[in-house]
Amino acid sequence: MEPLLLSKSRLNVYCQCPEKYRLSYVEKVVPDKTPIPLIEGLALHHIVENCLVYGTKVPDLAAEVSREFWQARSWEQTEYADETAFTKAQEHILHEATTFVAMIGELQTHEMETYMEHPLVHPQTGEVDESIILRGYADIIDTDPQGRIRVIDIKTSARSPNTEQANRAMELTVYAYLMACTFGFHIELPVSLLYLVRSRQAKVVWLDSQRSIPDFVKLHESIISISRAIRQGLFWKNQGMHCTWCVHQDICFAASLAA
Ligand code: SF4
Repeated sequence: MEPLLLSKSRLNVYCQCPEKYRLSYVEKVVPDKTPIPLIEGLALHHIVENCLVYGTKVPDLAAEVSREFWQARSWEQTEYADETAFTKAQEHILHEATTFVAMIGELQTHEMETYMEHPLVHPQTGEVDESIILRGYADIIDTDPQGRIRVIDIKTSARSPNTEQANRAMELTVYAYLMACTFGFHIELPVSLLYLVRSRQAKVVWLDSQRSIPDFVKLHESIISISRAIRQGLFWKNQGMHCTWCVHQDICFAASLAA
């Protein structure tokens, strides 16, 4: 049996809408055009992350990283109306990113996009399930103000987040779990969400939390349940507000009309 590859994105997508998981990861449907909020969020994320980790060492890094990001894309692959709108967006995002970096200030960062991968392990019994591989890229690893190693996940959003978000975010548990696979499940790891709020008045919101063995046990249970459902082909349409931002809405609803 082929191992099932899971990441925080795949787990979150399955929990939000199993049909979206099927279209994205089983059928591997790639949308013709990248939606604007998605590409701008990616650009912002990429520039800010680089500046926080390497900004003090490389001059004009924000502009350089921005150039490299947008050069890899053409406006026809996006939902921008034309090349002028595409170029304008680049200037706007660069300005937003440098504003956010200045607001965040200096951090004691060590690495960005740290890749971690491990077969599923039961946090208490140590039993290894080689048929499920969990993997992911942690946005930033730093030393927090209390001198502890911490994982930071960067989010872009149009609104301020719910203050409980960091306590609930499965992605933070996945990163902490992957670190625990290497350092031992006894660790209590600080984790933070760093929200870049793209409202009229740009705002940075830090939400801090931690993860320890009860969180790892719950994640293990969830992963086992989700893996079983995926292997059994349980994919249904969970329609809701989130469909508004789904890249598959055209084919998803077209198919349901035809049925
Ligand atoms: S449009 Fe909605 S129901 Fe359809 S795949 Fe996307 S999230 Fe699921």
